[in-house]
Amino acid sequence: RTALADRETYLTPVLKTFQATTKPVLFKSGLGQYLFDSDGNRYIDTVAMNQAISAGYRSPYVQAAVREQLEDMQHCSTMWMHPGPASLAKALVGKMPPDDWVVHFLSSGTEAVDLALMMARNYTQRHAVVALRSAYHGAVGATANATTSIARFHQKIPSASGIIHVTNPDQYRGIHGPGVDPYLAEFRSSIAASTNGELAAYIFEPIQGYGGVIPMPTEYVRQTSALARELGGVVIADEVQTAVGRTGAHFFGFTEHGVVPDMVVLAKGIGNGFPLSAVIARRDIAEAMTGRTFMSTMGSNPTCCAAGRGVLAALEHGGLQENARIVGAQAMDMFRELQTRYEVIGDVRGRGLMIGMELVKDRDTKEPATELVHAIADEIADSVIVTKAGAHANVLRLVPPLCLTAKDAADVVDRLDSVLARPR
Ligand code: PMP
Repeated sequence: RTALADRETYLTPVLKTFQATTKPVLFKSGLGQYLFDSDGNRYIDTVAMNQAISAGYRSPYVQAAVREQLEDMQHCSTMWMHPGPASLAKALVGKMPPDDWVVHFLSSGTEAVDLALMMARNYTQRHAVVALRSAYHGAVGATANATTSIARFHQKIPSASGIIHVTNPDQYRGIHGPGVDPYLAEFRSSIAASTNGELAAYIFEPIQGYGGVIPMPTEYVRQTSALARELGGVVIADEVQTAVGRTGAHFFGFTEHGVVPDMVVLAKGIGNGFPLSAVIARRDIAEAMTGRTFMSTMGSNPTCCAAGRGVLAALEHGGLQENARIVGAQAMDMFRELQTRYEVIGDVRGRGLMIGMELVKDRDTKEPATELVHAIADEIADSVIVTKAGAHANVLRLVPPLCLTAKDAADVVDRLDSVLARPR
């Protein structure tokens, strides 16, 4: 109680923006896919603390790697030498399709996207960047301008940024309906209208996360990437949410589309809760920054890099990606079954353990059932932590630690079932 009151008194009120429930729990500990409060009550964490906890709370792989590092030194700034960052970079490059890749580590997704945009602009000597509507690329600076997933951000931040916003090919509620051709036409015409035909970059999420778990159709990714390159731009995959095995099928989300980006941004899951992010860039693009003063004191912090190596070990030896694929498919089936029984579930979509369930008042009009998301979040808050997403905040997300079991997924679905069954 005191802690909650202290939070009201001393922490910035903006923190409440993303909260789905009005019943915040004070957590004490976590283990695997579960959180516990100080009374020992257990909660299934379907949000992985904003998708950061990929390998699970207290993952033995991550803990061992971090503990070992802490015994030596907790920090070594980028300007000095430590073997940790290069060893993680080598492992990440090993996950990429063959090319001459280099890695730049930072602490947050926002910073990494910002650097990626800066690299692209330095490399191309151009300014215009295409970002999709409903994207989330970061919270400050250039990345905030590229973000439109949450209307509140968009309304308050002036967009005098060189970012061209193009309608995302949302196959459920997109303004051009299903199919990709009209979206491709808009992509072309928006660039033509806003530039002299020259681009610095095109940035996209393989599955839009905060936008409402919206998978990008392969044809769209292929054609937009090709067009961006024709116009001289580099292609940036923002994999802050989709990488590290989350989609089950591959380590990176872009792989499924058969497009190799020029830069890939990682954050969240790569650190398992430690502040670690990375830009993986083609060497020639990264070289465009040579001679410029760009450094981050905490970027490539060895403790965070150790956490990153722990995450990769957990993936390799703990079968997490495989689990995301199998349990993700089972969870998807369970949600789809629920959808056959409840009209309010307008759409279920995603890949692996990145699933969104869009709630609507009416399946024909698709009017968003935003209040229902809050009601559900409140009603199951005693045992399941959920979060909302989407421009209308009407998408419930299942984005748990990658060690979620089929039983956990069934428990979540049971709770949702009993709440949805109640007359309103
Ligand atoms: N890109 C995407 C796709 C994200 O989801 C986020 C965070 N929600 C970011 C970038 C920014 O990351 P961070 O919050 O670590 O700054």
